[in-house]
Amino acid sequence: MRIHSGCGKFAARCLCTTRTRTADRDQQQSSEPARQEKMSFLFGNRSSKTFKPKKNIPEGSHQYELLKHAEATLGSGNLRMAVMLPDGEDLNEWVAVNTVDFFNQINMLYGTITDFCSEDSCPVMSAGPKYEYHWADGTNIKKPIKCSAPKYIDYLMTWVQDQLDDETLFPSKIGVPFRKNFMSVAKTILKRLFRVYAHIYHQHFDAVMQLQEEAHLNTSFKHFIFFVQEFNLIDRKELAPLQELIEKLTTKDR
Ligand SMILES: [Zn+2]
Repeated sequence: MRIHSGCGKFAARCLCTTRTRTADRDQQQSSEPARQEKMSFLFGNRSSKTFKPKKNIPEGSHQYELLKHAEATLGSGNLRMAVMLPDGEDLNEWVAVNTVDFFNQINMLYGTITDFCSEDSCPVMSAGPKYEYHWADGTNIKKPIKCSAPKYIDYLMTWVQDQLDDETLFPSKIGVPFRKNFMSVAKTILKRLFRVYAHIYHQHFDAVMQLQEEAHLNTSFKHFIFFVQEFNLIDRKELAPLQELIEKLTTKDR
């Protein structure tokens, strides 16, 4: 294993190959006003394994069946097949169920390393030395703000949670139609969730290894990438911070 000259990390783990910096300037969708109490979340319970409350899909609902279907097909070992839209199912619903599932997974993965991600360790939200993210949600915060990674991730996860809790966006009842802009919002959610994976991989992989969570992280990320590739949900340039890893995960075995 060689050491990457740019950041001193092992090459197999270092993914800092790209050059541009990006700032989050997305302003294309509206959301309910962010709940102030969530915004003031201060990482009070650091021993918790979950960063934000898990979003539950009600047992007995069609979406719950879809989630169970996803879990069952994942067990088959063929990820490309597992992420495909099941026969006769609605694409919006399939994307909705999986988006909720990815939020829960990332929530838990980040929850395990919050002790390592602090104002001191991560004064800016980054994914390696080449990528820095500034937070804006387009509604409450229009001008992107530079903030620490824990603060950024708190903003990000709170924002995602607000979207998932919005019944007009993520209807849980059968027969309630999805909004016309659902897919565009889902894409923004997934694009932002990707940044949490990117931050964990670039800044906290040592902690992940220490906690022996790397297989879990890799499996979750691989599933995420196969899913977004299947439906073309995230622009390639947004995935650049983890491009090497993505290539490794998606070409080695399918
Ligand atoms: Zn961090």
